[in-house]
Amino acid sequence: MTFQNTREYAQNLDAQDELKTYRDEFIFPQHNGKNVIYFTGNSLGLQPKRAKSYVDEVMNDWANLAVEGHFYAEKPWWDYQERFANPLSKIVGANPSEVAVMNTLTINLHLLMVSFYRPTASRYKIICEEKAFPSDQYMFQSQVIHHGFNPSETIIEIKRREGEHNIRLEDILSKIEEVGDELALVLFGGVNYYTGQVFDMKTITEAGHKVGANVGFDLAHAAGNIKLELHEWNVDFAAWCSYKYMNSGPGNVSGCFVHEKHHQTNLPRFAGWWGHNKERRFKMEPNFDPVHGADGWQVSNLPILSLAPYLASVDMFAEIGMEKLIQKRNQITSYLEFVLHEIDKEVDSTFEIITPSNQEERACQLSVFLHGEGRSLFDYLMKNGVITDWREPNVIRLAPVPLYTSYEDMFEFGQILKKGILANVK
Ligand SMILES: *Cc1c(COP(=O)(O)O)cnc(C)c1O
Repeated sequence: MTFQNTREYAQNLDAQDELKTYRDEFIFPQHNGKNVIYFTGNSLGLQPKRAKSYVDEVMNDWANLAVEGHFYAEKPWWDYQERFANPLSKIVGANPSEVAVMNTLTINLHLLMVSFYRPTASRYKIICEEKAFPSDQYMFQSQVIHHGFNPSETIIEIKRREGEHNIRLEDILSKIEEVGDELALVLFGGVNYYTGQVFDMKTITEAGHKVGANVGFDLAHAAGNIKLELHEWNVDFAAWCSYKYMNSGPGNVSGCFVHEKHHQTNLPRFAGWWGHNKERRFKMEPNFDPVHGADGWQVSNLPILSLAPYLASVDMFAEIGMEKLIQKRNQITSYLEFVLHEIDKEVDSTFEIITPSNQEERACQLSVFLHGEGRSLFDYLMKNGVITDWREPNVIRLAPVPLYTSYEDMFEFGQILKKGILANVK
């Protein structure tokens, strides 16, 4: 497709956009009486208008029924979380029994590591990506120390090659093979938070299993963004947060996946009453009998007020389906890329897109390395109603979320960016 960097052209793409009505389903912060151009749905998704009614329903049930709400609420609280199983399993490519919602992301990864990282004297190493999200790095280090190993000998980061921005699959695979019998766990991001690179989870999983390791993924930037086939790919476990592409609200609950093949094995875990046999949960028995399924990793009873806006969002995703989202995502990301290249030509090459240009290796994010300008350009964008985010040393990340951004936003952003660079904001 040959794009054009004009407002009319962008408006025309908007007119043809099958998802255009969903823009009205979200609340945008305002700048000079207009919607901001929102590029940070990879950090905190916008609020879906329908979230409020889901929360109000819980507030009303709590007011009217108090403790009785556990069983008699409009959506009874004691099994509220089960409403996620069907829609969420479709979003991540799982069977309904393989997904659960609970806790928050880093907590879930810790809990899953309790089951899936069980190092021995000879098999104890972990493979992860270089520049993994800091929370993941701290988690790896603390888990390794907890088991009495030395982080620097145990955690192996797959590095980018000199002068390259992205990690090569061949380097991941050859390291997995090299570590071989010593490898206990591969835990990678599905999409790198910094560059937006999408990893080939199927191939990484196969390679990890071939040497006898468990393989899990942190899907913070993948859930609701890319096509996932966790069951098919034979991934052992995964977890994601819900507040990025899935628009559930700040700091909200995490989802997790445990492959069916682990459901009957009574893997060691840190248990609590909500993971106990559902029929017998309220019998207050002394011995733990885990639910067969991802729900068997639940610990506490669930924060219903947090689940409510997440359910609103999951229902919306189910209504649309990932296929349509991915279709628009590919087109709008390509359009943004085109606009950036056009502006770059006009202002004489001052930035570089470090996200892979190959559609197979990227999703809804372009990370732009600014050579000439620095933080002041980012500040200029913010002051002019463009919300992006800044990562050291000199990168702005742009996520044109297909649910609620428009092609005209991309065009408009290009114009503001050009003005900022030409005004020589330094
Ligand atoms: C956003 C993000 C997190 C955040 O973790 P919380 O426990 O929800 O605070 C963790 N890992 C990655 C890769 C992320 O992108």
